[in-house]
Parts: sequence; structure tokens; C-alpha cells
Amino acid sequence: MSTMTVKAIKMFKTGGPEVLEYVDVELGEPGPGEILVKHHAIGVNYLDIYFREGLYPQPMPSGMGQEGAGVVEKVGPGVTHLAVGDRVAYAGRPSGSYAQARIMPADIVLKLPEAISFETGAAMMLQGLTAQYLLNDTYKVQKGDTVLFHAIAGGVGTIACQWLKALGATVIGTVGSPEKAAIAKAHGCDHTILYREEDFVARVKEITGGKGVPVVYDSIGKDTFMKSLDCLSPRGLMVTFGNASGPVPPLEVGILAAKGSLKVTRPTLTTYVLNRQLLEQGAADLFQRVISGQIKIEITDRYPLEKASQAQKDMADRKTTGSIILVP
Ligand code: NDP
Repeated sequence: MSTMTVKAIKMFKTGGPEVLEYVDVELGEPGPGEILVKHHAIGVNYLDIYFREGLYPQPMPSGMGQEGAGVVEKVGPGVTHLAVGDRVAYAGRPSGSYAQARIMPADIVLKLPEAISFETGAAMMLQGLTAQYLLNDTYKVQKGDTVLFHAIAGGVGTIACQWLKALGATVIGTVGSPEKAAIAKAHGCDHTILYREEDFVARVKEITGGKGVPVVYDSIGKDTFMKSLDCLSPRGLMVTFGNASGPVPPLEVGILAAKGSLKVTRPTLTTYVLNRQLLEQGAADLFQRVISGQIKIEITDRYPLEKASQAQKDMADRKTTGSIILVP
């Protein structure tokens, strides 16, 4: 059995960015259902920070990162949809994409169309597939809907903003700074709200003539959850899909009745791409929109793999916009 040594980020305990260690890792042969991928680019996601901090627990020591693009170098027994030399991209568990190469389950890996670069592939899979299911499945956005989407200048946000415009929606987006408001506008956002300064509930009411919106996409969590409910029209849907400010505290469900028969869902990408068919459908939609230019993937920063902790620190400090990647 041949082995190869590669550089990778590992964590041996949860904590701040400093727990991410740049180490040597030995890779053996892929087992049944596995492939060995050599990465050309690696996606950085806010989700990685939850794993680093321990909000989403995983066994230690652990790899880091759930998104990458590269070339298949080895194929294990039983893998039929991929071959050595294929250009591929993926998003999903288990963690371990912050590495020059890795052995991983083949069932979450897709062929990357020639028209999409490795960098774009690595930047868009997790955030793009998330935007895809949120807008087309969790709540099916209709032409003419007015939608509130928080952190609209971020990775998921900039993709979702362009997608919402393509679906014919009016987009109200929250942002942390005037610079981010300009970025949101450049991606088609109709109304930007500086939610660190302005009362976003009042602004949403003003923009919608007092009616509120049928759906709120909230990845901020603790700081915005209750106020987001107040932005909904009767029977509206609250999509709480992240915890950038901390997890949402337990909810007294009677509140939903008092505020107008509201609905709440807490979706995850994993349950929307549960099988190969769903994954391929979602990815085909995303790929086609990116290839046609309808959705542009904004890579705003590239960090060397060994600077992964800096990339995560910048993201946690709200300094990044669009998507950021690691270069192995
Ligand atoms: P982003 O690029 O959007 O970065 C997170 C943004 O959250 C920041 O830029 C910041 O934007 C905003 N934010 C608001 N409050 C805080 C805070 N207290 N600390 C830090 N950031 C804050 O990240 P991603 O695009 O990778 O992910 C966006 C969200 O979507 C994350 O919460 C992530 O967990 C969630 N997600 C959920 C998935 C699911 O299936 N459930 C899948 C993928 C992502 P600003 O300064 O404008 O407020």
C-alpha cells in the first residue's frame, strides 16, 4: 500500500482560531466508496467556525472544512460515478477539506463542469447549494414576493440575492456596514438596512407598507430571531438557518400564535441533499445559473492553506464579504 504525506489543518481541541494547526498527514489508499482528491481550492464557511468553537460537536482530533474542488487522484472499490483525473467539487461532511489532499466519501462529490474554475467551484458549493434549497424548497419564492434576507453581503447572502432577483423577488437585505450595503446593491438588493444602526423591523414595515414579508431568512440567530418574527406577515415563515451571533434560545411556541400563526423551520443543507438525486438536481440548477452568468460567485479573498486561522478570524470579525477560499 502506498502512502503520501500532505499538509492539512487539524484541531485537537475546540477554541479560538489558534486551535487550527498546520500539520503533516499521511494518506493511505481510499477504501470502499471513497476517493482521494487533490485540492486546487478550498471553501471557507461560517459553519467551519461553529465546528471550531464546539457549537457543532465532532470527535477530536478532527479535520476542518467541508468544501473543496480539485482532481480525483485515486478511486476506491465500488465507486462508479467518478474516475481518476476527473475535475470535481463537493460540500458536506465529514470535515477535512482544509488539506492539500484528502480521502473522502465519493457520494457527496460531483463532477465540476469545465466552464467552472476550481476556485469558483470551491467557493460556491456549500453557499450555493444552501441558497438553492432555501429559495426553492424551504420556501418556494414566487415572482413578486418581498423577502427579508439577513447578512445579504456575505457568502450565502450575495448568491441568494442574485438568485432572488432572478426569481423575480424584491429583496430587503440587512448588512453590517455602509460598504456592505454598496456590495449588496451591486448584487441587486432593492432595500438595504444597516441593522447595527437602524431598527430593521420598522424599516421592513415601512418598505412593505405595514404588511410585513411572507418569509425571513435569518442566519444571525440569537441577536435577530425575535425581531425577525415581527417582520413577518400573518402565517409567514421564519427560516432560521444559522447562528452567527449565537444559537437561538428555546422558543415558547405560543408566541407564534400571538404574532399571527407564524411558522418556524430550522433547515440544514444535509437534509435537503439527502440522496444523490437531490444533490444532483440542486447542483445542476446552481451550475447552470453560474455558467450562464446569472449568478456571479464573488471571491473576495484568498488565503494560503496555512493561514486558515486568519481566514476564519476575519470571517468571525465580520470583515469578509462574498466568498473566501484557501489555496493549498
Ligand atoms: P457569511 O459570509 O455570511 O458571514 C457571516 C456574516 O454574518 C458576517 O459577515 C456578518 O455580516 C453576519 N453577522 C451578524 N452578526 C454577526 C456576529 N455577531 N458575528 C459574526 N458575524 C455576524 O457566512 P456564510 O455565507 O458562510 O454563512 C452564512 C450563514 O449561513 C451562517 O450563519 C451559516 O452558518 C449559515 N449556513 C447555514 C446552512 C444551513 O444549511 N443551515 C448552510 C450554510 C450556511 P454583517 O456584518 O453584514 O452583519
